[in-house]
Amino acid sequence: MTTRLSEPDQWVAFRERLLAWHMTSARDLPWRGETDPYRIWVSEIMLQQTTVQTVSGYYGRFLSAFPTVEALAAASEEDVYRLWQGLGYYSRARSLLACAQKVSGEMGGRFPETAEALEKLPGIGPYTAGAIASMAFGEPVLAMDGNLVRALSRLSAESGCVADTAVRKRLHAFGARLVDPDRPGEFNQAMMGLGRLVCLPKKPRCETCPVAGFCGALALGAQTRIPVLPARAEKRVVRRGVALVFCRESVLVRKRPDTGLLAGLWEFPGFEDACDTASVRACLAEMGMERLRSQGEAPSVKHVFTHVVWQMKGFAFEVGAPPDGLTFVTASELERLPMPSAMRAFRTFVLKALNGSAAPNQIR
Ligand code: SF4
Repeated sequence: MTTRLSEPDQWVAFRERLLAWHMTSARDLPWRGETDPYRIWVSEIMLQQTTVQTVSGYYGRFLSAFPTVEALAAASEEDVYRLWQGLGYYSRARSLLACAQKVSGEMGGRFPETAEALEKLPGIGPYTAGAIASMAFGEPVLAMDGNLVRALSRLSAESGCVADTAVRKRLHAFGARLVDPDRPGEFNQAMMGLGRLVCLPKKPRCETCPVAGFCGALALGAQTRIPVLPARAEKRVVRRGVALVFCRESVLVRKRPDTGLLAGLWEFPGFEDACDTASVRACLAEMGMERLRSQGEAPSVKHVFTHVVWQMKGFAFEVGAPPDGLTFVTASELERLPMPSAMRAFRTFVLKALNGSAAPNQIR
């Protein structure tokens, strides 16, 4: 029989079950039980759109380089990007730096202690504000990330689409009642763990779920039909020619614009719909690059972003002298440049060529 989560004594029973399970659930994350707002904030920003497994490797390295909010505030954008390299969604790294500068410069290095005040900082949305406020300062607020949306939808047998604002509000109100007023941080972490380890998107492990007795979706046999998700939009596929232009011991790079996709990162110049040597050569000519000798094709790489797919093909060239106004870097400089993971295969190709292990037209 299912216990409906409509009365205060049922909320208390739910919390007890959930937190008892949380105490014994095996997975130990580097940030579990953390109460330092700076460290919680870094982990939460890293976890946005990125899996726990991926973040685990980055978290320790990042905190070793920037152990305090002041240390991060004093870093350059490129230093932060370098440690962020491979995590993707680089706008998060920029907001992280902007927020650190604000906290360090205007707030004496202390994070505000309420979710409401935290939400006013750059890059901190309702979820992250709730996570920091509850875990670091004990404010009894819900931190509703994607894991909680899924678990709360199922617990409450929500039949509306979770993309609807009204449904989100309903779920938030439902979850807020369940938060343990004495241990809000642990409660939120336990709920996140439940979503991540048990209440899985496609195949929820209801048979081992500590709160199965409270679950409305399970009682209806609807756990795989809930949450109701919006129809997925097709991703736009963009074909790009990527120019790898060598000049003696160096290669051409450029910095992406300060706004938009991969803002502020470095790349090998790419040109939309330039899919053969002649088209890429014409685009390079517009940048002032003449007398290029083709070195053949380089790797083809597909990179999937949230809304778009880049289907990239590399073209290698050689030029006698570097034209003015363009940036050429050596192998060691290239290794230190913050580049998005979309460029990884091209960078490997270029480094092999620059380090002399193969000529550009011999690498495949
Ligand atoms: S019983 Fe199943 S659907 Fe319900 S919360 Fe637990 S894992 Fe999720």
